[in-house]
Amino acid sequence: MKIKSISLGYIDIPLVTPFKTALRTVNSVNDLIVKIETEDGMVGYGEAPPTAVITGDTRESIEAAVRGYIAPSILGMDLDDFEAVLEKMDKCIAKNTSAKAAADIALHDLYAKRKGLPLFRLLARKDPAQPKTKLETDLTISVNETDEMVRDSLRAVEQGFRILKVKVGKGGSKDVERIREIRRAVGSKITIRVDANQGWTKEEAVRTIRAMEDAALQVELVEQPVSGHDFKGLKYVTSQVDTPILADEAVFSVEDAERIIEERAADLINIKLMKTGGIRNAQKICDIAQENDIKCMIGCMLESKVAVSAGAHLAAARSCVTMADLDGPSLCSIDPYQGGPVYHGPEILLPEESGIGITKVPAAFEKISC
Ligand code: MG
Repeated sequence: MKIKSISLGYIDIPLVTPFKTALRTVNSVNDLIVKIETEDGMVGYGEAPPTAVITGDTRESIEAAVRGYIAPSILGMDLDDFEAVLEKMDKCIAKNTSAKAAADIALHDLYAKRKGLPLFRLLARKDPAQPKTKLETDLTISVNETDEMVRDSLRAVEQGFRILKVKVGKGGSKDVERIREIRRAVGSKITIRVDANQGWTKEEAVRTIRAMEDAALQVELVEQPVSGHDFKGLKYVTSQVDTPILADEAVFSVEDAERIIEERAADLINIKLMKTGGIRNAQKICDIAQENDIKCMIGCMLESKVAVSAGAHLAAARSCVTMADLDGPSLCSIDPYQGGPVYHGPEILLPEESGIGITKVPAAFEKISC
């Protein structure tokens, strides 16, 4: 079935509260949506957020990559040559992982629909285990003054979240206090993950993590303590602390994941479709992780339901994925879509409809003419 058209649109969804990390503050999800249609009228949707501080991808660069490179490379190809379509798309332009992810997600949505399967069941064919039909996500607590972070954590627990992902990385000693106060407030039954978003030096990371260990704050893992480029620093931190270290900004490509695993530079890997360039490369990282018995998290940028749900389908399909950080839809003040996985507090229920399951995307689409 030939790929007939590719269209672009935008969605703008206000967040419940501003999202703050060591790198940035954001007030709304303003993402690009890619719609791909085959000759028989079937459509698939993908999404990409412009996360310039992490991926380097801006709204303009994502749009230019889709218009100028991705669309011309795959228009007219036969969707049933699925691997060839994905390979051509991946090779048509270097980097630009968010643009590729949007197209890759739309292609996977479309292909799963063509096969009459929910996407997670299609993706699970690569895994020996039965897919999950339900996931539990954490909720992100933005980095703020300690009092505010304690209030946000208590509110999350009231809403039913049992896993908190606390953003730190703004001052090592203050970070220990932040986690100590949150732990004191939420009690011992809540899981606390800490994400430094590259905010520490390697010495500061070791000092801070050890202080958290000495204070018995029961931190499940620490995510990306040092710069994503500082491979040696990441390996050093991993070797110096007991708390498991999760690589995020240090792993974009399949090669990055291979190196981290081979050299034991981190204990765990956070896979995000916007870093890998979509599901195809994320599946390859899962394959390598599974061979080496490494557990993975599926995370997201500030994305809405299309891209986050693609991540949820992958998380459900793969047994190496034991952690879900898929709180994008929970941070949005409205859900403008129809269909797809159900996000109910911390619970994500996978749909049995074919594809990702999303049937309506309220964006004004413009067809790309090549
Ligand atoms: Mg992270």
